[in-house]
Amino acid sequence: MIVMKFGGTSVESASAIERVASIVRERAERRPVVVVSAMGKTTNKLLAIANAAISGSRASYIAQIHDLRDFHSREARLVVPLADRAELDRTLDDHFQELTELVKGLAVLGELTPRSIDAISSYGERLSSYIVSLAFAHFGMKAVHVDSRRLIVTDRRHTQAAPLYDETYARLAATIPPLAKDRIVVLGGFIGATENGVTTTLGRGGSDFTASIVGAGIRAEEIQIWTDVDGMLTCDPTILVGGHRVKIISFAEAAELAYFGAKVLHPATVIPAVEKNIPVLILNSRRPAVEGTRIVADPVRTANTVKSIACKRKITVVNIHSTRMLMAHGFLKRIFDVFERFETPVDMVATSEVSVSLTIDNSQRLAEICAELRQFSEVSIEESQAIVCLVGENIRYTPGVAARVFRSLESVNIRMISQGASLLNLSFVVAEADLKRAVEALHREFFAQLDPGVFDRNGAADAAA
Ligand code: ADP
Ligand code: ASP
Ligand code: MG
Repeated sequence: MIVMKFGGTSVESASAIERVASIVRERAERRPVVVVSAMGKTTNKLLAIANAAISGSRASYIAQIHDLRDFHSREARLVVPLADRAELDRTLDDHFQELTELVKGLAVLGELTPRSIDAISSYGERLSSYIVSLAFAHFGMKAVHVDSRRLIVTDRRHTQAAPLYDETYARLAATIPPLAKDRIVVLGGFIGATENGVTTTLGRGGSDFTASIVGAGIRAEEIQIWTDVDGMLTCDPTILVGGHRVKIISFAEAAELAYFGAKVLHPATVIPAVEKNIPVLILNSRRPAVEGTRIVADPVRTANTVKSIACKRKITVVNIHSTRMLMAHGFLKRIFDVFERFETPVDMVATSEVSVSLTIDNSQRLAEICAELRQFSEVSIEESQAIVCLVGENIRYTPGVAARVFRSLESVNIRMISQGASLLNLSFVVAEADLKRAVEALHREFFAQLDPGVFDRNGAADAAA
């Protein structure tokens, strides 16, 4: 068995779903289990509907629900066999009726809780997985739709739920292999449920994580993440085009890149795959012939020090200064307790004798955090910052990497620097306004020469060189 996960753009329309069907059909003998994201930007649209409901604009949320229904109905009708149309219409009616009731309820309450956000955002994957399963029949395959909420059991941390692995793996192992014997199982990513059956989600971008959990639960031979790029690239294409495809990368490197902003993979994806040592592939559903990126357990030897550059935008730097800290112990604990209390993860930390600088990417509770910190220190905030992170197993063995970074970034002001304990990343903070320039300079420095065993040179970059 293999797991094949298709992201939002890969199922964004009838023609995209048709492409998915042919990719899956060609691999039918490997007994694929298919995990799909919501169609296109559906999750964002559902969240916009929820927000419109609580801000009280009834006409607006009703119109948005209609649009979303029309979109699903229009695309689905192009890929669903005639014989199944009545069932399709009935299911769409049921789902959108339920969604409308839910949203009306929110409008009355005027409040959006994490639990209701999950209830609403789950419709994207529930609809897409159902539509894709019907579409497979239209394209000549036998498929069966399974509601992921029956299999992925999670804790109750709504919008960021974590799987309860033992129970989830037991359910997956008992349910999927018998179905997958002669049918293609289709599941929605991203969604799960608590032990009591309350709908949860695994966090934005969480369908990759679902694919990996399913892969581990059924001991799949491979987990394929089909998306809209050729694989893991040497830089984030939304910041700099012309990055090269990384053919092979280790789990540790991929996890680090994902954690530091490479959206192509959800950061938790590698956890179940590592545990069961299942290779993960990143592939392009628009160019299925490209071999993609293979993520494997062992470090990959290469002459290139850096495998890729990841970036996280919209970062806030918090500077905490206190002369009382001089020679005192327990000061860092006090600081981190504050972030812990307001459930705000810290990404990077740099300390000196009397000051601590740290970065957060979720500044929702920043005002409360600052108020607490100011009780025992001076605090200043810098917004619109970005983390740039160079990742590569070789960084730890290669002298002079930092010197090359500083030389190539001569004209960019570097705010904070950190080399993680993992020793496979070197990260630093720059102003968002300098981000593109910084990535361009680093990319030129570290990827002018490429080890052809590990990288596939981008044609456009070649022409430009
Ligand atoms: P999907 O909907 O298939 O899950 P995502 O939008 O979540 O797709 O992830 C794919 C996107 O990740 C790409 O379109 C690209 O813009 C972005 N991305 C960021 N960093 C990288 C990188 N290093 N390599 C490839 N893609 C990256
Ligand atoms: N549909 C969800 C999101 O947009 C999950 C995913 O696409 O992976 O975040
Ligand atoms: Mg994604």
